Amino acid sequence: VRHLVVILGDHLDPDSPALEDFDPDQDLCWMAEIPEESTIVWSHKARITLFLSAMRHHAAALRQRGFPLEYLILGTHPYQSMSQALEAALRRWQPKQIISLRPGTWQLRETIRHCAESGQVPWQERHNLNFLFSVSEFGQWAESRRQMRLEFWYRHARQKTGILMQKEQPVGGRWNFDPENRRSPGSQGPGWIPEPLSFPPDAITQEVMTLVAVQFAKHPGSLEHFDWPVTPQQAQAALQDFLDNRLAQFGPLQDAFWPGQVWLYHSRLSAALNLGLIRAITVIRAVEENFQAGKVSIASAEGFIRQILGWREYIHGLYWLHMPQWLQQNIFQAHQPLPEFYWTAKTDMSCLQDTIARTLEHGYAHHIERLMITGLFALLLGVEPEAIHRWFLAIYVDAVEWVELPNVIGMSQYADGGWMASKPYVASGNYLQKMGGHCQRCPYEPKLATGAKACPFTVLYWDFLQTHQERFRQHPRTALQWKHLERMSGEHLAAIRAQAQVIRKNLEDGHAFALNKMH
Ligand code: FAD
Repeated sequence: VRHLVVILGDHLDPDSPALEDFDPDQDLCWMAEIPEESTIVWSHKARITLFLSAMRHHAAALRQRGFPLEYLILGTHPYQSMSQALEAALRRWQPKQIISLRPGTWQLRETIRHCAESGQVPWQERHNLNFLFSVSEFGQWAESRRQMRLEFWYRHARQKTGILMQKEQPVGGRWNFDPENRRSPGSQGPGWIPEPLSFPPDAITQEVMTLVAVQFAKHPGSLEHFDWPVTPQQAQAALQDFLDNRLAQFGPLQDAFWPGQVWLYHSRLSAALNLGLIRAITVIRAVEENFQAGKVSIASAEGFIRQILGWREYIHGLYWLHMPQWLQQNIFQAHQPLPEFYWTAKTDMSCLQDTIARTLEHGYAHHIERLMITGLFALLLGVEPEAIHRWFLAIYVDAVEWVELPNVIGMSQYADGGWMASKPYVASGNYLQKMGGHCQRCPYEPKLATGAKACPFTVLYWDFLQTHQERFRQHPRTALQWKHLERMSGEHLAAIRAQAQVIRKNLEDGHAFALNKMH
């Protein structure tokens, strides 16, 4: 074999640059279902199903297009890990070169590098066109900045690509339409929202579901609702459905959440994007065209494009800049274990119960739920960053380390002290009451910080402010928030501290109630 083209589970672009100069007479595609990929990180059944099903669909399409392929099926080969499988493939095929895209995790990249080195086979790594910018282009931008904030990156990316630009100016006269995009759903909720297009499991997916139900029976989550796009055609249809039915309302309600509402106006395209079923540029251009055709406002189009051209690219660049050190960061010295209810949804806190239950059902929660409900609670409770990182990596269908880790360790837990976020995203139960409808049905009161009905978010919020006041009191971005502490009496603050300890103890003991066993 001349080239062994290694196709990883998140490199399923049908026109992947790894296939560019492929010669079927000399080259071979290689794919492998590796048990360790689903067990080394504990993984939601829907996440395992999605990866395996999308890989098998990709393999079938490659074969149909005449690409020779070796595909190792789970349970039919002896390899536990990627390194065992790849080393054996190198011995079997004796390729002159390995070709692949850049892996989605630092560790896997090390593994391939190591296999290539020990097998003395050169490895050519090609740019993954699922990102508009390569890692080195991001690195050059980063080198020229003192502070690598999202907003600077996003403007740079708009200027470089010309997306939503008119000559040198941002379309609409502003870079940012956030003020229009922070509407609360009000006390009545968001009203009727069109259901997203569903992709019921076909024969390939059903076969994978049966395998997962048996081989990964103890893994978290359900397969009952599995209807994710698993092919490029389905991903394109999912995009069209989003453009036609939800994009126009995406902006105003992008920060809202509501009990029982899984998708709101979100695109649910992250998994398809991360697996390579659809390219980021395709999604961005389609949204821009809808704006140009007058179908959606600039606020919705900009708000959405910012997520992909801004956040997604920025996070990807930062991951490769800061790994492997990022995982070890823990500036708050947080060491609480992750509460058991993250795996079961058995808790009396309404917002956490609802969000986690939906996450277990679908392998999905939208951004603000991840940041300001499950992520925020872990931060305020003081959960060990690595423990909450492992949960996020396990539980969402779209979780690949390059995107999950910066969002969790950096944005949500602020464990790095600000490599990415300019301040910790901390809020009390009052914020949750304003942006969602959970508090109406919760036994706890968002305004109360002490007493049997105190909202655990509010208690832990004030406890967090006290604990970390030295660090943030003087900080220009946080001084105002921390100043509120000065208005509280020492006695009240001590009562909050005591209450926070009760919550930590109850959750450590595995209770479903955070504060009050009467609920
Ligand atoms: P939409 O709201 O419709 O947004 C459109 C697209 O923008 C997404 O599909 C995604 O590709 C991109 N995007 C939006 N926000 C981000 C972001 N912060 N970082 C990178 N891309 C973004 N996203 C993942 O893809 N995988 C993860 O494992 C993941 N873990 C997260 C963990 C935490 C703690 C937080 C706060 C966010 C995480 N995100 C992750 C980002 C974001 O929550 C998801 O991309 C989004 O909820 C996916 O749903 P959607 O496709 O309906 O997104």
